Amino acid sequence: MNVSLSYQSCNLCPRNCKVNRTAGQVGFCGGSHEIKAARAALHMWEEPCISGIRGSGTIFFSGCSLKCCFCQNSSISQDLTGKTITVRQLADIMLDLQEQGAHNINLVTGSHYLPSLLSALDLIRHRLLIPVVYNCGGYESVEAVHAMKGYIDVFLPDLKYYDSALSAKYSKAPDYFFHAFKAIEAMISQTGKPVFRQEVSEGQSISLIQKGVIVRHMVLPGCKEDSKKIISMLSSLLPDHSFLISLMSQYTPYRPMEQFPELNRKITSYEYNQVVDFALESGLTEGYMQKKTSAREEYTPPFNLEGLPDN
Ligand code: SF4
Repeated sequence: MNVSLSYQSCNLCPRNCKVNRTAGQVGFCGGSHEIKAARAALHMWEEPCISGIRGSGTIFFSGCSLKCCFCQNSSISQDLTGKTITVRQLADIMLDLQEQGAHNINLVTGSHYLPSLLSALDLIRHRLLIPVVYNCGGYESVEAVHAMKGYIDVFLPDLKYYDSALSAKYSKAPDYFFHAFKAIEAMISQTGKPVFRQEVSEGQSISLIQKGVIVRHMVLPGCKEDSKKIISMLSSLLPDHSFLISLMSQYTPYRPMEQFPELNRKITSYEYNQVVDFALESGLTEGYMQKKTSAREEYTPPFNLEGLPDN
């Protein structure tokens, strides 16, 4: 991998904290140089081309370089619930998920452990027969994306905000769009257009993504105009048919947010439909839209250390 990315003077994400994580210093994400994870199991709640019939082999990592105030996984992203595992154990977890029938290996919010993720993949790449999905909040550096060349088949980044005031307010990252959009461009140039494979499983024919980029955007309460700006940027600046869009309606306030009362509600059908209509009018017709009934807590799995080793 690119030797300029390291834990010693950490520059793994755009926060560029420059802390020495191998010496016990901690940056914004909260992670040390040892991998911490909270769950490794088959997961059915991703896009159909990721979850398929048997599920996506999903590994949730603890800590996060964004820590959005509304995060549905805050017990692991912000409170760092989880268990420390070695690179070898992570590699074995991936093989075990493959053995269980996972359609892919899905690395969720692992940016702050990138050197370890790549080391684990180095150990087992010759035995891994399924695609590797990098599922992230979008706040990535282009250098990190380049370091993943040859390791990651499918990128699943969020594109959360356009307006820097919004990203500063909710994720303490005023430069979010600047970095996320450049990272998405780099991801697309790395994977090329989405490629699918048909598989017949349990009597059903399913289309499974093998490589490519799916850009996720979750509509936030009161933020439909920001969503439209994101759609405008995607449709006008990225090549046609180079990625899929996944427009999500599942925003759910998981705990009262006194500081941001405007977020203490679900989005309305009107808000979501306005964004969907705008995406379709803008030519973003390839991808996924959620039914409004998706705003349920089923999307948050229990972070109970399932699938992690006992010692
Ligand atoms: S990965 Fe963590 S410590 Fe490193 S730059 Fe990002 S937030 Fe800071």
